[in-house]
Amino acid sequence: MTTLLLDALHEQASQFVDLRRDIHHHPELAFDEHRTSALVAEKLQAWGYEVERGLGGTGLVGRLVRGDGQRRLGIRADMDALPIDEATGLGYASCHAGVMHACGHDGHTAMLLAAAHHLAHRGRFSGTLNLIFQPAEEGGGGALRMMEDGLFDKYPCDAVFAMHNMPGWPQGRLILRDGPTMASSDYATVTLTGVGGHGAMPHRAADPVVAAASIVMALQSVVSRNIDPLQMAVVTVGALHAGKANNVIPQGAVLELSVRALDREVRSTLERRIKALVTAQAESFGVTAQVDWRPGYAVLVNTPEETAFARETALALLGPERVTLQGPALPGSEDFAFMLERVPGSYLLIGNGDGDSAGACMVHNPGYDFNDDNVAIGSAYWVLLAERFLTS
Ligand SMILES: [Zn+2]
Ligand SMILES: [Zn+2]
Repeated sequence: MTTLLLDALHEQASQFVDLRRDIHHHPELAFDEHRTSALVAEKLQAWGYEVERGLGGTGLVGRLVRGDGQRRLGIRADMDALPIDEATGLGYASCHAGVMHACGHDGHTAMLLAAAHHLAHRGRFSGTLNLIFQPAEEGGGGALRMMEDGLFDKYPCDAVFAMHNMPGWPQGRLILRDGPTMASSDYATVTLTGVGGHGAMPHRAADPVVAAASIVMALQSVVSRNIDPLQMAVVTVGALHAGKANNVIPQGAVLELSVRALDREVRSTLERRIKALVTAQAESFGVTAQVDWRPGYAVLVNTPEETAFARETALALLGPERVTLQGPALPGSEDFAFMLERVPGSYLLIGNGDGDSAGACMVHNPGYDFNDDNVAIGSAYWVLLAERFLTS
């Protein structure tokens, strides 16, 4: 049965490969995906989906209800491109200078549309299918914006799934993982205010440079002394700005921090300890500190039951040789994490190619391209997942 399904999705793949290349040729940055979302909406409507646009700006949902099944499934694809100058030399390379689909979101959109097409025409399911096309995954938090616009209130889901391509893995291999899978990413700006003065008379000043230097060193103790050694955590001071002249003690100093974790509790410990340590350190030097904490993406945690279901689906489609049952966690971030904080579900990877193949080029590289051979496999996976999930 799954061989027939793969054959069917292979047969219709070429039109969706063309569509993928068309989207690739016309990349759009976060919250600017007007052409892409119009294209997606037009297709879904033509196939009988009820479409709502304008969720989270350029996001949209296509809903298809069939039979009397009560279950509701959500599948998410992202649509945004990156501010990168494409250097692939491909015939369908970006027509917009400085903008490029370098993360394969063109492919994610095409895979979900290919599944949408098959499910509308030949899908055997009973229940509610919600196809979520989100804007601004690359740092803009498009998932959160869609949720703030009522995504899951208007389109309740019992589970939600998403797939990302991954260079360095064999083409078409499906990689699953339960538990924490991608890191949180938070940012902080620390502004130190002292008393400026003459470099020769430090006792008449309150030196923010010395305080900043001490804070940089003290921050190294947060990961080493406050976090369980078996947990992952990163505290990086990526920028430190202070002073202009060798004989002037400046008035202030600014530090920029990047903070990552793979566990929600570790993430909150990092925030608490960093704030406490910075404040106390500054005070000990007679300097005041203001910490502007900017929460970024949450830790992405795949729920066990839904991941087990996603795994069984992968095994049913491809067999054990082409499925990794528990892949590694990744230090990158993904805003699908916000959806998983609200609804149980799982985020999986599909290999984009390994070794010397073109698909092995890393995402966010100007030479990267989504592997079109994944359109059939990725869409077949979504079809099978929907048909297995939405049974009455
Ligand atoms: Zn990316
Ligand atoms: Zn991406």
